[in-house]
Amino acid sequence: MRRPFIAANWKMNKTVPEAMDFVYAFLPAVAEVKDRDIVLAPPFTSLFALAERLAGTNIGLSAQNLFYEEKGAFTGEVSAAMLEDVGCDYVITGHSERRQYFLETDETVNRKAKIAQGNGLSVIFCIGESLNEREAGMTYDVLRRQLRNGLSEVDVRKLVVAYEPVWAIGTGKTATPDQAQEAHKYIRDELRGIYKNDADSVRILYGGSVTPENADSLMACADVDGALVGGASLKPDSFEKIVKFKGGINK
Ligand code: PEP
Repeated sequence: MRRPFIAANWKMNKTVPEAMDFVYAFLPAVAEVKDRDIVLAPPFTSLFALAERLAGTNIGLSAQNLFYEEKGAFTGEVSAAMLEDVGCDYVITGHSERRQYFLETDETVNRKAKIAQGNGLSVIFCIGESLNEREAGMTYDVLRRQLRNGLSEVDVRKLVVAYEPVWAIGTGKTATPDQAQEAHKYIRDELRGIYKNDADSVRILYGGSVTPENADSLMACADVDGALVGGASLKPDSFEKIVKFKGGINK
């Protein structure tokens, strides 16, 4: 059975006091939620403070990025060992904003995933097609390429996959449950090709304009095991409602 997994991607939002204010309101609101994984991914600058506050709670901590070398002369970069040391459990790799604005490729995403896992972190590995690619009928080609190249030698036991159609991120255009399920089923089948039976235990999250209003219907899909949430994760009450989605737990 796959335990639901709901993660907040705060992107470049929130100072340390703002992050602490969020946690002050959010922690008690979800303290009794024991049947799903809840993860916060703040900017690097809030990781240390949040790690101290979240220690011993039911909320995990993720970074949003890392560099693919162990250490050295890479000004401005942050290593996997540093993230592990500061208290992270997870790191996001391959987010479409990193692919788009920072020119990350399947190869660099793959190197990041491997070095993260080598330092004890689990990876939230993002894939997804653009609107042009979808309209050109290339969705599955893109997903297949991103999965096969990006997951080469990546350990299935420390892996969460996030399907985030680029056209749905931050746009208010959510994939319909049918569109999400179709893509997630394709991703599950591809994962079977890579990981055989272990693919059945991989959580596949949907990301792209998830809100309290659409979370229940998306989470009810057979191969949707959780959500990666951007905009709607910035307010504690809105993210609480998504975390507490109803139904679809026993997959
Ligand atoms: C994201 O960036 O991971 C995301 C899903 O953003 P939003 O929920 O705002 O579409």
